Amino acid sequence: MNKDLNRVVVVTGGSRGIGRTIGLRMADAGTRVYFNYSGSDSRDAEETVKLIEDAGGSAWGARVNVASQQDVQDFFKKIVEECGRVDVLVNNAGITIDGLLVRMKEEDWDRVLAINLKGAFLCIQTVAKTMMKQRAGRIINMASVVGMMGNPGQANYVASKAGLIGLTKTAARELAPRGITVNAVAPGFIDTPMTAGLPEKVKEAMLAQIPLKRFGQPQDVAEVVAFLASEKASYITGQVIHVNGGMYM
Ligand code: NAP
Repeated sequence: MNKDLNRVVVVTGGSRGIGRTIGLRMADAGTRVYFNYSGSDSRDAEETVKLIEDAGGSAWGARVNVASQQDVQDFFKKIVEECGRVDVLVNNAGITIDGLLVRMKEEDWDRVLAINLKGAFLCIQTVAKTMMKQRAGRIINMASVVGMMGNPGQANYVASKAGLIGLTKTAARELAPRGITVNAVAPGFIDTPMTAGLPEKVKEAMLAQIPLKRFGQPQDVAEVVAFLASEKASYITGQVIHVNGGMYM
């Protein structure tokens, strides 16, 4: 391994939105950022690598389906072969396929659960082997405010995010004896490509529920993730940190 490398950070769904900003926030000369994406547009990934390199870091992005065990294992195998370790895993990849419960297609339920929840499970299971040997590691799962509150039209997404919170707490208990912390960050409404397409009426209704009267920015979330990944957060595990402008208290 390159002896100048201090930290290996993995961000799933890191090609755009919150994941890209997390990669950028973590980037410095001693950090290598590995990220993946579903491959809908590889230009996003190329731009992310450039942004991280311009900020003085180093990055590599790969097309990986986090819902596929084979993809996930191959991805981490490459990282461990190159670096010998993984210090931080951020399970950020997520999708929405919204629809009312009574009309929701089984395949839309399965797809959202597979990427948002099973994807995190597969990544944790794979990386835990490396982190357990290191006797150190940080895992941060991207939940959502709706995982606590519920949200009409998002039964699949909400179930996946509520499930992630349970997964976080269980993984935290299992991995704590090996020096690994596991926490969740639950963003409220954040300005990203995921929310950009929502109708103005929905956005206005959301804004009315936010005491701080603004939507969050990816940076608001990335700062909390960076803190949880840092030495300063070494006594925090199994927690859900809310970043939502007061939308849920
Ligand atoms: P986004 O802009 O839509 O970005 C999602 C990222 O996930 C992209 O990099 C995407 O890759 C990747 N991805 C999707 N499916 C994948 C798969 N099967 N395997 C690997 N990567 C995959 O979303 P965002 O708004 O930044 O959200 C990031 C996370 O925060 C999600 O978990 C989301 O649920 C959560 N969150 C967001 C908000 C919000 O208001 N934005 C609020 C609460 C929680 P491609 O670009 O290739 O598709």
